[in-house]
Amino acid sequence: MMYDVEMETLPREDLEALQLRRLKQAVERAYYNVPFYRSQFDELGIHPEHIKRLSDVAYLPLTEKQDLRNNYPFGLFAVPRENVVRIHASSGTTGKATVVGYTKRDVKNWAQLMARSFMAAGVTRRDTVHNAYGYGLFTGGLGAHYGAEELGATILPVSGGGTKRQVMLLHDFKPTVISCTPSYALHLADVAQATGIDFKDLSLHTGIFGAEPWTNELRAELQTKLNINALDIYGNSEVMGPGLAMECLTAQQGLHIWEDHFLPEIIDPETKEPLPYGEAGELVLTTLTKEAQPLIRYRTRDLTRLMPIPCRCGRTHLRMDKVLGRSDDMLIIRGVNVFPSQIESILLETEGVAPHYQLILRREASMDTLEVQVEVNENIFSDEIKHLQRLERKLKNNIKEFLGVTADIKLVEPQTISRSEGKAKRIVDQRQKD
Ligand SMILES: [Zn+2]
Repeated sequence: MMYDVEMETLPREDLEALQLRRLKQAVERAYYNVPFYRSQFDELGIHPEHIKRLSDVAYLPLTEKQDLRNNYPFGLFAVPRENVVRIHASSGTTGKATVVGYTKRDVKNWAQLMARSFMAAGVTRRDTVHNAYGYGLFTGGLGAHYGAEELGATILPVSGGGTKRQVMLLHDFKPTVISCTPSYALHLADVAQATGIDFKDLSLHTGIFGAEPWTNELRAELQTKLNINALDIYGNSEVMGPGLAMECLTAQQGLHIWEDHFLPEIIDPETKEPLPYGEAGELVLTTLTKEAQPLIRYRTRDLTRLMPIPCRCGRTHLRMDKVLGRSDDMLIIRGVNVFPSQIESILLETEGVAPHYQLILRREASMDTLEVQVEVNENIFSDEIKHLQRLERKLKNNIKEFLGVTADIKLVEPQTISRSEGKAKRIVDQRQKD
């Protein structure tokens, strides 16, 4: 099932011709309406007319998150203020928020791309969507909301928080689809269980999970524990919000990037050189249709690779691999690069360990140390101490063998690690304080 069959199955040749036409328009829009872009282009001696092929995008300047902050709040708008109908912002942990503006058409396009995404996951107008993404300046809540309405499904605008109440609504309103972060879905399942409700007895059949990187091992866990299909959605608040790319239910392997609206590239985050299909690097996106705030070659910091192999579902839009991690989240421990998602994979492949963990980085005598705190299941925790020690050794050995780093493993009781109602806090870096 597809929301927009014609566009989603457009032959590559036609799709690329459309992209080129739209890229030229987007570059013109940015150059002639946004002083920041005009000066960037002029500095490099580039003019919109120089764009002749899609690959010419590589000559254009990259846009960094810092550029959005430097032009805070409305300096990157390409339309008069009265044409902006909505503004979102993401709170940075440091400094100013990054602001994104939308025209009426931007909001419409976004709703349609979210509707496409929902439908790619098998959601139809007969479904009821329990939307636990936060509503507000964050793009998650309203993004999913408008998409579900566009599709004609029933939306429950639950937003984040009030977990016990959410469990009650899941039980009473019988939604068939849930959208939230994967870590929050696990938390909901645990809270439900504690109140005597088994997720398997609910009406849910599909989960649309995003806003944080998650592994296929976590997918398996979610699918079993919640008795649903767990699908990955990709978004980026600066580029649009959720719904830039979506896994299809048919293949459940890689996320189709909606290429009629976004032009993807992968670059080497160090050299900033473009990388060929299949190679892992940083995802860079150029908006092809955004009116209020076009972005040229925006560095998402998300690490993935593009998969050009045609998909069984019939969609012609390129797929990106599940995001391995954010380049900002990459841990460098004694010279070895590690992503939290790699540790997650190892933890979840091990019997007796629960999918709740935190990575604590410390500096001791100028050496970086990594402690992995992970919860164990109830029955394991009440087990003999030697069994727990064996489990600790096993995890330590696997992390050393597969990732090349030495970690101290600390098994903790169920429900010890704090739960998040939004994005999970996986890393606690105490190194700066030393
Ligand atoms: Zn597909």
